[in-house]
Amino acid sequence: MTTLTQITLENEMDLILAYKKSMRTAELLGLTLSTQTAFSTAVSEVCREVIDKAEGGMATLGATADEGRFFFTAVISCRTGEYFNRSSEGIEYARKLVPILEIAATEEKLNITLKLSIPRSTRIDQRRISVVKAEIEQEGPISAYEEVKMRNSELQRINQQKELALLSANYLNEQKTEFLSIAAHELNTPLTVLRSYAELAMRMDNGQSDKLTQMLTKIFRQSGKVVALVKQLLDISKLETGIIEYDKEPTNWKVFQEQIMEDLQLAVPNHNLVSSAPVDAAIFADRIRIEQVLNNVVGNAAKYSARQADIQVSSMVEDNDLVISVTDKGIGMSAQTVKNIFQKFYRSDDTIKKYSGLGMGLYVASRIVTDHGGNITVTSVEGEGSTFNIHLPLLN
Ligand code: ADP
Repeated sequence: MTTLTQITLENEMDLILAYKKSMRTAELLGLTLSTQTAFSTAVSEVCREVIDKAEGGMATLGATADEGRFFFTAVISCRTGEYFNRSSEGIEYARKLVPILEIAATEEKLNITLKLSIPRSTRIDQRRISVVKAEIEQEGPISAYEEVKMRNSELQRINQQKELALLSANYLNEQKTEFLSIAAHELNTPLTVLRSYAELAMRMDNGQSDKLTQMLTKIFRQSGKVVALVKQLLDISKLETGIIEYDKEPTNWKVFQEQIMEDLQLAVPNHNLVSSAPVDAAIFADRIRIEQVLNNVVGNAAKYSARQADIQVSSMVEDNDLVISVTDKGIGMSAQTVKNIFQKFYRSDDTIKKYSGLGMGLYVASRIVTDHGGNITVTSVEGEGSTFNIHLPLLN
């Protein structure tokens, strides 16, 4: 069958639509007004049965060719069920109006086919049928109701596409997270062994050979950087699966900052860490995780500024928050970069070219801080430097 038009059957309004569309199609095929009316009435009667009893279906209008003859054909289909028996009124009425009415059922679908032969006098042929099809398409909706219906089904199609895209994106994301987690675990073990042996070799050498000590120190330091990256990868997979656990405890900021400053300075040996007297304030924090945040922000301050430059660490109480500020006099950031730096894997175009990194640190850092009920903000001037403000709620 060459399909000329289709109507989904959902409610009473669709009966009128099916009727009108059959009338118009029959007219274009050159059928007389009385034939148009009889056929269209039969179509809408069957449609009524389908809407009432099968709770909807589809009416397809088209033309079929059989042994050199052409037929105007309507196939009204719905899900198979015990809907239509011999005494079905609408079907019996339709049977009286059209020469051929057949009911065929498969396991899933029930098709009611209505057919009438198109007289040769109309000069019907396959080419004419194609022209009718094009004309119907060109005419578009024949009523405001059909227009709304078409728009709705287009919206539904777009929604379905979006849902599918979302499902596959989620699936890919899950796969990626799983891969990250496996890769990070696999890297972690040999790295730890490597570092332990480097440390052991340094101890055994005990400074006897300067050259060897230098080389072992380099191995130790560089493998330390890889360990930090692997830790970030593990953190990302933990954050994605939502199983990051915090061991929070009441923490005096003044004491804590004094404890970690030395380690922070060791992490940025080529920069000068300047700290103003820490404020005496209590927070509820997972100390290891908060140190990790500071390590990251201070590490970035060093990475994105010149060697020997100062990095300022200060703290104060603002409203109900402890605010820890880290300021550098480095390359700074554009407004666009400032907007995006906390996104996963984000790196600004200019840093990609000049600095190594994976764009994970600030994403993980900001998640840790928000998991503590706080947030990180940034102010930055390109070419002059940046200040990261870490806000953590005070322990009341
Ligand atoms: P990475 O440093 O590995 O690229 P981060 O998540 O730590 O990843 O940082 C994301 C991006 O934010 C960096 O690529 C850089 O463009 C920008 N950035 C972060 N800190 C600074 C800073 N102190 N100065 C300038 N740019 C920074």
